[in-house]
Amino acid sequence: MRYDVIVAGGGTAGVAAAIAAARGGAKTLVVEQYGHLGGTAVSGIPFLGSMDCNGEIVNRGIFSELIEKMGEEDGCYGYATGAYWHTPQTPERYRFSLVPFDPEYYKYVAQELVLGAGAKILYHTFISDVIMEGNRVVAIEVVNKSGKQIIEADVFVDSTGDADLVQLAGGSFIDNPHKQNCSILFRIGNVDLEQFVADLEEGKAVKGWGEWHTRVIKADNKQIPTSVVHLAGHMVLGEGEPETTFTAVSLRDGEISLNATRVAGLSGVDAEEITKAEILERRNVMRLFRLMKEKIPAFRNARLLTTSPIGFRETRNIVGDYIITMEDVVGGAKFPDGVAKGAYPIDIHDPHGGRTRFYFIKSGGSYDIPYRSLLPKGLEGIVVAGRTISATHEANGSTRIMGCVTAQGEAAGTAAALAVSKKVLPRQLNAEELRDILRANGALV
Ligand SMILES: Cc1cc2nc3c(=O)[nH]c(=O)nc-3n(C[C@H](O)[C@H](O)[C@H](O)COP(=O)(O)OP(=O)(O)OC[C@H]3O[C@@H](n4cnc5c(N)ncnc54)[C@H](O)[C@@H]3O)c2cc1C
Repeated sequence: MRYDVIVAGGGTAGVAAAIAAARGGAKTLVVEQYGHLGGTAVSGIPFLGSMDCNGEIVNRGIFSELIEKMGEEDGCYGYATGAYWHTPQTPERYRFSLVPFDPEYYKYVAQELVLGAGAKILYHTFISDVIMEGNRVVAIEVVNKSGKQIIEADVFVDSTGDADLVQLAGGSFIDNPHKQNCSILFRIGNVDLEQFVADLEEGKAVKGWGEWHTRVIKADNKQIPTSVVHLAGHMVLGEGEPETTFTAVSLRDGEISLNATRVAGLSGVDAEEITKAEILERRNVMRLFRLMKEKIPAFRNARLLTTSPIGFRETRNIVGDYIITMEDVVGGAKFPDGVAKGAYPIDIHDPHGGRTRFYFIKSGGSYDIPYRSLLPKGLEGIVVAGRTISATHEANGSTRIMGCVTAQGEAAGTAAALAVSKKVLPRQLNAEELRDILRANGALV
């Protein structure tokens, strides 16, 4: 089997990469280990970071299309705004915004956009090896119910979230033993959301609200069928209980998706540790859910609806032709080969289990993702997109956020198709030409 472009992993970045590569005229295949697209994006979290802290939208293109198409299906209602950041590090009046969406609609819309663009999807298929010619990746080995197969392509987009292809190809990674922690996200139904906000604000049954990193966004966008869209804060659910830092999003009245538990110090690229993380986090979720039902009146009749697979915020980050640093992010760096934008503050869920740390972009604006940070040093025929691009531990605290990741995917897929059409390696592309195509397709570069 032979394709022009293989997109390895159909998650947040991979979806955009596949759409862009196929629309760019490349015969494209997406290989995904699960039976749906979306990866971490369908865990029950909102899109963050696609509007900067001054209120300007920084990611459009395929990102906007996903929002619009989900909107047509009643699975997304656009931006929710109306709150400001509230941490000791935040400059005054830094706006907070998010785009909540229903993950089930994302799975459908992403699949149809990918197929509609002309790409092929291979679900339930794990990429287990790469085949090299010198330092160029020329094929992948996959394993699925049909057995093992070798699939060739001219260009590969590594959007596995763990840079699996780069690892298999012998690429190098940024050395950082302290990775961000990991979480299972969970959705709860039959919650009285307005009561929950009142409980929090009155300090009833819940302590610690309002100290720092506290936010409430009520539905100012009247289309959103929920009274409270977003909550972030801390609660102490009783004597001797540790502080629970949480963010919550709601798209439908009475339902809330929570990011509130975590395990630190386990690796997302070690099978034993991934298993341990799943086990410990499932226990954490059940324990917290029971405690919330017991202690918070608004949750008395709540039901646990769904849980996500364990989500690792950070695993491998490639050493690319350029490494994005913390200074680049907070300084709002602009690059001549900028192919995507990021605008979310650096958000580090403490590797040691403490409070989340934030570092804000000084202007309140955005920074560029240079094309060079998608190119793994020493390897050819491969472009990387997603949380594994070439960024330091600190910078990755921002580049990993989904608005930026989707834009990186679009850039990687567009670059892959362009390289195929010009019969050159991705590294040989003229970045200005790539930027022109991205701009013409509606992306913000
Ligand atoms: C717990 C948690 C909460 C978060 N909260 C937010 C939030 O609220 N808002 C926000 O914007 N961002 C949030 N993020 C960050 C963001 O969701 C991720 O950084 C981003 O979605 C990663 O995108 P990706 O494309 O790199 O990886 P993924 O979306 O994880 O996609 C990787 C895909 O590759 C597939 N895959 C992996 N390996 C293989 C293989 N060998 N063979 C075949 N398929 C493979 C996977 O199944 C998956 O579909 C959160 C992250 C986590 C973990």
